Amino acid sequence: MRPLKIVVLAKQVPDTRHVGPDAMKPDGTVNRGKLSTIFNPDDLHAMELALNIKDRVPGTTVTLLTMGPPKAADIIREGYYRGVDNGVMISDRRFGGADTLATSYTLVKGIQKLAPFDLILGGRQAIDGDTAQVGPQCANKLKIPQVTYVEEILEISENEIIAKRRLEKGVETVSSPFPCLMTVHGSSPVCRSRHAKNVMKYKYARTATELRSADEMLKSLHEKRPYLTIPEWKVEDIEANIEKIGLAGSPTKVKSVENIILTANEAKFLNESDADIELMIKELIEHHTIG
Ligand SMILES: Cc1cc2nc3c(=O)[nH]c(=O)nc-3n(C[C@H](O)[C@H](O)[C@H](O)COP(=O)(O)OP(=O)(O)OC[C@H]3O[C@@H](n4cnc5c(N)ncnc54)[C@H](O)[C@@H]3O)c2cc1C
Repeated sequence: MRPLKIVVLAKQVPDTRHVGPDAMKPDGTVNRGKLSTIFNPDDLHAMELALNIKDRVPGTTVTLLTMGPPKAADIIREGYYRGVDNGVMISDRRFGGADTLATSYTLVKGIQKLAPFDLILGGRQAIDGDTAQVGPQCANKLKIPQVTYVEEILEISENEIIAKRRLEKGVETVSSPFPCLMTVHGSSPVCRSRHAKNVMKYKYARTATELRSADEMLKSLHEKRPYLTIPEWKVEDIEANIEKIGLAGSPTKVKSVENIILTANEAKFLNESDADIELMIKELIEHHTIG
């Protein structure tokens, strides 16, 4: 079996469990500086699926690709600690405020710079925008087949990959030729933890932006070990069209985001009696939550 080239799309997201009043800027974009950040949960599953294929197909390489502010270098380091081979940041103020159209355009420019590739793996969705649009949009722009909601890779052969999809009412087995894009469901295996050897090897990994404010010791370490410098691509590096990126390239604008906190008197405690369940269903229909 020939080695595969896999690209994993991973996003650093605000930890939506702690969204405060200053989460949004007046212009409708996310105030990322004010929020603690995490590795998008579904993208950890996507990374695990990629590393699992790497275990099964000798010589396979896994490259983690993220578009984000300088702080997003944290998830590239996290990827290194868990076993990816390469990490690339697409980071430039001009990419800020991107909706899914502009985000997928920018990621595709990055993927084309990494080409050739066999498989693109992304999360089903990000917990902040929650649109699940970026994966399918990338596949469309790359003109490659897409398989969404993947839970397991069943078989890999020279020219084809067979996967199991998790659907609302069951599972489906799908085959696709290479190259293709898959979005990974949260029901797939949990990501392996960090490997101590990798943490020791990559804990000083930094982007050029981070190195600018680093001390001399770290700068000279990067000269001795160039693999520690995380590639950081700007607009020009991926030859992106300025009109198609960031706010300029985004027809969708997020008007506002607010935190819904249920107060005690809004909660109702039900027991499992048919009467209570029926009452709940009636209310959910009345409020157009279901039905
Ligand atoms: C509350 C809120 C609502 C929003 N609503 C919309 C909307 O309705 N329409 C719209 O166009 N935009 C919307 N946005 C903007 C949207 O979040 C961004 O465009 C974002 O970059 C991509 O969309 P998403 O977060 O929905 O990602 P999804 O489409 O849910 O992400 C799916 C997968 O794509 C990959 N991916 C996504 N972003 C990146 C990245 N930056 N780097 C690497 N991989 C990535 C990951 O693998 C991820 O799991 C919204 C943002 C917020 C905060």
